[in-house]
Amino acid sequence: MYDVLVIGAGPAGSNISYLLSRKGLKVRLVDLKKEVGIPNHCSGLVDQRVVNIVGEDLVINRPDSAEISTPAGSFSLKSERMSVIDRVSLDKKLAEMAVSAGSDLSLGTMLIDFQQKEGFVAAKLKSKGGFEQIEARFIIGADGPTSTVRRNLRIKAPKLLTSIQYDVSKKSNRVKINLDRRETPDFFSWEIPTGREDEIGSSGSGSEEAVKRMSSGETILRKRGGLIPIGPTDLGNGSGFLIGDSAGLSKATTGGGLYAALKSGEALSKAFESEGSILRSYEKFWQKSFGSEINRDYRIRKLMDRFEKHYRLWVPLAKSSLSGINKVGDVDYPSRTFLYILGSFPLTFPLVLAEFISQ
Ligand SMILES: Cc1cc2nc3c(=O)[nH]c(=O)nc-3n(C[C@H](O)[C@H](O)[C@H](O)COP(=O)(O)OP(=O)(O)OC[C@H]3O[C@@H](n4cnc5c(N)ncnc54)[C@H](O)[C@@H]3O)c2cc1C
Repeated sequence: MYDVLVIGAGPAGSNISYLLSRKGLKVRLVDLKKEVGIPNHCSGLVDQRVVNIVGEDLVINRPDSAEISTPAGSFSLKSERMSVIDRVSLDKKLAEMAVSAGSDLSLGTMLIDFQQKEGFVAAKLKSKGGFEQIEARFIIGADGPTSTVRRNLRIKAPKLLTSIQYDVSKKSNRVKINLDRRETPDFFSWEIPTGREDEIGSSGSGSEEAVKRMSSGETILRKRGGLIPIGPTDLGNGSGFLIGDSAGLSKATTGGGLYAALKSGEALSKAFESEGSILRSYEKFWQKSFGSEINRDYRIRKLMDRFEKHYRLWVPLAKSSLSGINKVGDVDYPSRTFLYILGSFPLTFPLVLAEFISQ
């Protein structure tokens, strides 16, 4: 019997398999993909914090600035901490680390379902060779936004936003974010320079039209897409746990989920060392490490949705606090920027803060 069955060899799953294997646990890691990391849906834009964890060797570009467009005008931000990493290489590197640490990796293998029994889980896997029954003491869902593990644990799914991305041959070195909700009512559009080409994407309703408009006249090299979960879910149930996108841990304001995928795995692996309930320890460690920021981010997102009609008010606020935003701005901690903007305007602060707390 395995100690842990990990479903999904994306960044969350491979990272936790590596961490648990290093602790001496017997880990089976499975992914329905035939090759790790392929196909890839992600743009790979991360803060230096992620680079520090995964290694400088994965950096393929460092954009020199970021331009934010809103219905009331645009402003630029410095991007000293921003990098674009090679997402396929990231997945491969983490999977190789997991295997080197002792995890058994099976590709082309899909979790169909599982049952929680007394002291173990019994899972049914499907691969080219047919069906396989496997037992493990614990199961970890690192199987992304549409998680089968989450569904089997009867945990409510987060909202899922469809995201479309075209890779075009144009080369720039500026990240562009378009927050105009007349074009993408649920989220935003982006342009991310990889150094080799530009990734033009958009999320939520209207995204296909937005991407077509933004890439018009460019040579389209690839079309791809994925889902972004909005809103954190429960982290587990009994002997099953969720990490990364399966638990809706992407940032609700930016959709970025790589940092949370790595940090949630770190918190869960630490929980395996503690006495008593692994789930309770995981919840505690996650809140301490990055979970409280993910929750705050979700509340900011709901607030932004509510105050959408006051966009024209927000933009001058953001513009006039630009030098400060450049100092405190951090893609992993959007709440710092949000609170900074509010703090710069003592009259609006109590009103918005009251709304924020009431959610
Ligand atoms: C268009 C787009 C752009 C993005 N850009 C960025 C960005 O620039 N920066 C950033 O930080 N984040 C970005 N994200 C988010 C980021 O990609 C995710 O947060 C990240 O991939 C989460 O990693 P994960 O390991 O939790 O899940 P995933 O990467 O989704 O991995 C889940 C794995 O589980 C496997 N799987 C699923 N179901 C099963 C099953 N039943 N059996 C076996 N295997 C299964 C899948 O094949 C997959 O390999 C983007 C997302 C999208 C959609």
